[in-house]
Amino acid sequence: MRALFIVSASLLCGCATLFPQAAPIEREVAKALVTDEQESQLGLQVHQELQKENVKFHANPKVQAYIDGIARKLVGGPDRDRPGVKWQLFVIDEGKTANAFATPGGRIYVYSGLLLAARNEAEVAGVLGHEMGHVVARHTARQLVTAKGLEVVSGMALGQAPNEIVALTAALAGKGTMLAYGREMEREADTLGVKYSAAAGYNPDALATFFEMLQSKGDVPELLAFLSTHPPSAERVRNIRATIAQTGAKGSDLGADRLAAIQAELK
Ligand SMILES: [Zn+2]
Repeated sequence: MRALFIVSASLLCGCATLFPQAAPIEREVAKALVTDEQESQLGLQVHQELQKENVKFHANPKVQAYIDGIARKLVGGPDRDRPGVKWQLFVIDEGKTANAFATPGGRIYVYSGLLLAARNEAEVAGVLGHEMGHVVARHTARQLVTAKGLEVVSGMALGQAPNEIVALTAALAGKGTMLAYGREMEREADTLGVKYSAAAGYNPDALATFFEMLQSKGDVPELLAFLSTHPPSAERVRNIRATIAQTGAKGSDLGADRLAAIQAELK
């Protein structure tokens, strides 16, 4: 299993050595513990709970088409790294919250406040690539098993632990994340975000500029949710730039005009 994975990873991605997979063995273990099917079931249940909690999804089809368009540009990389994920993007209508999160199985949620806070489309793409990275690296599943134990997680996937799903969803609604990812997972997701956004033609440095903007405006209330789950430390910005330098990840598209058009729709 392990050998097969390494071979297929290097066949599919010529950049395997440029973008070292931080924890392929852990990922394989996570896959064995929580299957793709279970992840999909978990993600579906969390989504249904969000609907029950009356989380407001943005109804403007232009906004949905916009975010779907960015995701379509990005998915080439994630699909190679973890085939079979059914990516689904949702915009939560909450202009006062700048946040984004991913749930197991490939659902990515972006608050409209994040679209308003970003300065260009490449920054949004960097964040989406980062969230896709969490799914590709199976971080949500790994953290869930660590926090709840395998038996509870299996029960959750089968719909046998509705209270656990409610608790998870409440954490999502409050903090914008189900479980805090460790520093190492955030770093891995940043590396994958750089890789995916550059491969889609975006300027990968935008993930760093987004964090720098957050750092400089850290006391703005709508930014606090993202800051609490994604501390934009100087170290993180340095790591992102070091990854770009080491890998030669390149892209020039910023798409400031395209984001500005959507921000006008959101206001
Ligand atoms: Zn993250």
